[in-house]
Parts: sequence; C-alpha cells; structure tokens
Amino acid sequence: MASARFLADHMLMKLARWLRFAGQDVANPPLRVDDDCLMAIAKQEGRILLTRDVILAQRCKKAKVESVLIRSIDLESQLDEMRDWGASLKLEPIRCTLCNGELVEVADAEERAKVPHLDEEAALWRCKNCGKLYWEGSHWKKIKERMERSG
Ligand SMILES: [Zn+2]
Repeated sequence: MASARFLADHMLMKLARWLRFAGQDVANPPLRVDDDCLMAIAKQEGRILLTRDVILAQRCKKAKVESVLIRSIDLESQLDEMRDWGASLKLEPIRCTLCNGELVEVADAEERAKVPHLDEEAALWRCKNCGKLYWEGSHWKKIKERMERSG
C-alpha cells in the first residue's frame, strides 16, 4: 500500500497535506476542475482519487477509477479512515506538504545557516519543486505525535 499514489479533491486539501507528511504521494487537483476531469487525471496518472463526494465516488466505481470515499469532516478521523484503508502514516519527510514535490536533504553549511535556530544535528530538506524548506524542530515532534497517535 505504501506505493499507492493519490489525487485529492478540493475538499480534502488538509488531509492531503497530512498524508504528504507521511511521505504519501498525493497530487493536488488543478485549480478549476470538474468531476470528469478529476476522474480523467486519476485514470491517466494511475492515482487513487480521495474524495468526500458520495456521487463522485459512485461515478468512479462505475468508470473503474479507484477512489477512497472519506466520510469524516475532521482531520483526525480522516487520518483514521486512511489508516483503516491501509495507508502508512509514519512521519517521513520525502514529500513537500504544499506541492507534493520531492524533498532533498540540504547539507551545505551556508544554506543551513540561513535557517534560524537550526540545531546542528537537525536534518534540513528542500523541496525540489517549490523550494520550501523543512527541518526537524519542536513543531516536527508535534506533527509526529498527532500523526502516529493511534497508528
Ligand atoms: Zn514544494
């Protein structure tokens, strides 16, 4: 299941971000897109469509596009649903939470010096796609706890 690739619908952007914290490949939907287009993208890219839309999930079934219907509104329960589905939810910094780009570790001392209060031993990553930086700090521990709470 770890190799599954997803496409989130617009109602699940927050869940998508959290799944990316866990290293899951979750594509963002294009800005303006209808259901037909979402299904086409999922099919074309071999992605599993994550949606809260019952009708869309039924349409996916008919069209043989794999989808996961998320029923909960709050993030914690949505994460539980994904866990029940079989997704691995261990904090793993390999995906940018914003754009789904790949993260690469930054070892360059000059680059590291640009991040204030970065511990010497803390890892630092940069998104290959959008350039956003990620590093291990106190927020990291909180994310990890929330993510792996019941996992
Ligand atoms: Zn990015």
